[in-house]
Amino acid sequence: MLRFAKTLLIVFLAMPLRNTTAQEPKALPSADERYKADIVLVVAHPDDEGAATSYLARALDEHKRIAVVFGTRGSSGANEAGAEQAAALGAIREIEARNALTTLGITNVWFLGGKDTASQNVLQSLANWDHGASLEQLVRLVRLTRPEVILTFLPGTFIGEDHGDHQASGVLATEAFDLAGDPATFPEQLAGPTKRLEPLLENLRPWQPKKIYYFPDADREDIFHGKGPDYSVKEISKATKQPYWRMALDSFRAHQTQAKSFLDKIAQMDEAQIEKMAISEGGGTDALHFVLGKSLVGGSTTGDIFEGVTPGAIPFARPDVSPEPARPELSVELGGPWSFYAEFRRAHGLANLPHPEPPEIALQAPGTVVIPLWVRNRTPKTQEITLSAALPAGWTAQSGTGKFTVAAKQVAAARIEVNLPTQAENGTKKTEPQEISVHAESNGQSIGAVKLRVELRKRTLPQ
Ligand SMILES: [Zn+2]
Repeated sequence: MLRFAKTLLIVFLAMPLRNTTAQEPKALPSADERYKADIVLVVAHPDDEGAATSYLARALDEHKRIAVVFGTRGSSGANEAGAEQAAALGAIREIEARNALTTLGITNVWFLGGKDTASQNVLQSLANWDHGASLEQLVRLVRLTRPEVILTFLPGTFIGEDHGDHQASGVLATEAFDLAGDPATFPEQLAGPTKRLEPLLENLRPWQPKKIYYFPDADREDIFHGKGPDYSVKEISKATKQPYWRMALDSFRAHQTQAKSFLDKIAQMDEAQIEKMAISEGGGTDALHFVLGKSLVGGSTTGDIFEGVTPGAIPFARPDVSPEPARPELSVELGGPWSFYAEFRRAHGLANLPHPEPPEIALQAPGTVVIPLWVRNRTPKTQEITLSAALPAGWTAQSGTGKFTVAAKQVAAARIEVNLPTQAENGTKKTEPQEISVHAESNGQSIGAVKLRVELRKRTLPQ
């Protein structure tokens, strides 16, 4: 009996005291590998992924993991496949976009919930997308997917389709690139629940992507030459034995509500006709061109997108903010999206991002162009300013020219509105952009001039 009691005592003493001694170390849960991406593509609308699918097909050949984020569900625009419109059309287009990407084997696809915006003005699109909420969600998705590389539309305004929503996706992607690695940004996403009733904390980790590349929504190509890598769309996929352009087209077949008539037409063509249409005729292209936004891991400008990328996290890198440009005591500059982009490039370390100089826009004529201006008076006195506009023949200033005053130490918003004439019928000949020049004077002295190149078209998105 004594012996038994002794044994019990020994066993008892050998037992760890609950809550007072160390437990066996257990592995903490790590991030879900199913959602890890090498590439995150950020675009605006269902079918915009088509701007990159021939490259994505190539990246899949190289076993890259890809996720895609759309800004909107594409709920505006005509429906070529059925009667559904508006939100119902958006519900369909979400599935079409998912199906297009599933064709390639991409299933990690998210939508930010922005609304389609028929405008070339990125500021309208950002407002319509609820900029803050969209950015919060995109930062969350970057932290969830931990991409090495982000691909997106080039944030800038150009003569071209110049869709404000396309630009907004590039703005948000750039902001997320610079913020997702910052532990001070959306910290509630990074905190983990430590006790009951904390169900809103997300337990993500900061993530700094390594590179960001852009594709422009512009007609011109000159200013992008040599600014990033080019990828042939004619090369043959190792996995499918099809050219990359063909895989992109097969993926695009899902977009019936946007392109049923086009898809019906190609369904009637033989392979040679399809190739001719896709590659050599308008709309098709031999290569996809990317513009390097920035790399935190070196590599050359025109080198492969994954040049310099090695596995594993890199430290958070706050962007190098360029200094504010020196301005005279009295100055005038183009406002609206143009001045936003100048500040954006400065804030995100994108001083070398190509942008047209002078600034440019394509507009529907007859119609109007509004030239937004910032007039700065840093002097201690109210100043009288005179604005005048030098216009092409037949164009007329409707409002905004003449004399006005700007109070001491104030920045005033001005706008000049110009009527655009009906275009002469000249067949298929493209009209050259024309220049508007706004001059500002004070006390008989020039304080600056602003130029804008405007191309008149039969049809464009509104300014
Ligand atoms: Zn689009």
